[in-house]
Amino acid sequence: MQYEPVMGLEIHAQLNTNTKLFCGCSTEFGAEPNTQTCPVCLGLPGVLPVLNKEAVELAIQMGHAIDAEVNKTSIFARKNFFYPDLPKGYQITQYEEPIVGLGHIEIEVGGETKRIGITRIHMEEDAGKLIHGAGMEDASASFVDLNRACTPLIEIVSEPDIRTPEEASAYMKAVHDIVVYLGISDGNMEEGSFRCDANISVRPVGQKEFGTRTELKNINSFKFVKDAVRYEIERQIDEIEDGGTIVQETRLWDSAKGVTVSMRTKEEAHDYRYFPEPDLLPLVLEEATIERLKDELPELPAAKKARFIEEYSLPPYDAGVLTAERALADYYEETVALEKDAKAVSNWVMGELLRLLNEEGRKITDRPVTPESLAALVTMVKGGEISNKIGKEVFEEMYKSGKAAAEIVKARGLTQISDTGELEGIIDGILAANSDEVERFRGGETKLMGFFVGQAMKATKGQGNPKVLNQLLRDKLNG
Ligand code: ADP
Ligand code: MG
Ligand code: ZN
Repeated sequence: MQYEPVMGLEIHAQLNTNTKLFCGCSTEFGAEPNTQTCPVCLGLPGVLPVLNKEAVELAIQMGHAIDAEVNKTSIFARKNFFYPDLPKGYQITQYEEPIVGLGHIEIEVGGETKRIGITRIHMEEDAGKLIHGAGMEDASASFVDLNRACTPLIEIVSEPDIRTPEEASAYMKAVHDIVVYLGISDGNMEEGSFRCDANISVRPVGQKEFGTRTELKNINSFKFVKDAVRYEIERQIDEIEDGGTIVQETRLWDSAKGVTVSMRTKEEAHDYRYFPEPDLLPLVLEEATIERLKDELPELPAAKKARFIEEYSLPPYDAGVLTAERALADYYEETVALEKDAKAVSNWVMGELLRLLNEEGRKITDRPVTPESLAALVTMVKGGEISNKIGKEVFEEMYKSGKAAAEIVKARGLTQISDTGELEGIIDGILAANSDEVERFRGGETKLMGFFVGQAMKATKGQGNPKVLNQLLRDKLNG
């Protein structure tokens, strides 16, 4: 029997606001536990929530970004459950009437574009964090940090349109790209600002009804989501093939062991006793606000990628890398404005710059090399003033010292030797010192060319113009 996997993702993104969703406490990450709390987010009796306007605007922007209807009226609801990091005993979320309705985004997998439907986006508050034993003064105790309680989230719920592990990962990444681009969320997955729950079921190919699903909770990497759903699909198929049935349950991905493990059986909506939050009025938006936020929407990653391919004639791969981050795309465009060879600039940005940034875990926003500096370097290499190889050394020094290319080249005397007379002298010396190789070359061992070029490069300390050197060597060896 052949099986088809069916998946839908619920993504939580923490909104980029200074303060929490219903109080004025800071959302800054990493503070001492429980220092960013107040009676509202501690859930003390008698307090009233006040909605954060900035959070609402960010949620509306996300609605526009996925081409969705923004609902003029939405309603906050109480979702009741007990958990030690949830001091109120309920979470304020949206249920029947969320702020954003049906939308979609496009993902690219294996060179093909696929549309993934988005069912809804709703706003809700986050819970606190439990810290269990290990490393604390009492290893048998659990501790609760409520700094994160009440921070604003959007939950983006997809339609069950996802069919492969690769699509799941691409979808998660596409949503991540959008929220980071728009500045809706910092998207920091290590800090838990962006995480997803993956719902997975399998059905025999040709069957219309969906199978029973399991939900994998809190996945915080594009790779984990791929690995986790791949494992879970296999597990479900094995279970069915062995005559078992799938239980609707919540499972966890253990990335160290590479398996999913059962956490609890799944609650149904009615277990939560949802009802409209009595302490908050319905959220009613003005048409003008919705429209203004639509006008303010910046260019989205997919549109930017398409424009880079079109405007700069870049290969799709380059365009994808360069537009993955807005700050990188901006950097690239500022550089290309000064040095028009778009592909050459792309090579330097994707090669040397990203390599060094990755090595040191630095961000492009630091701009260790300015667009002006990089453009000047690329222009020097293109003009033959320095070789590509020397250019890379110069770039590394620019990156470390912040100095301009011309300054480094001058100080270190790195200018490329293109003078034919000077190079001829050097080559004559090399041919005289390696007469055996010359004979073998002339006898047909043409692959020795590489040896001669290497010798010439060594003799010129890498500063010989490779084009001129090659030409001279060919002339002399064949002549
Ligand atoms: P809940 O809120 O209980 O998690 P929802 O009905 O809102 O449930 O669905 C959550 C997610 O699960 C959605 O992304 C949806 O597309 C997906 N989903 C629903 N049914 C299935 C199924 N049978 N197989 C795979 N995914 C599913
Ligand atoms: Mg769910
Ligand atoms: Zn507070």
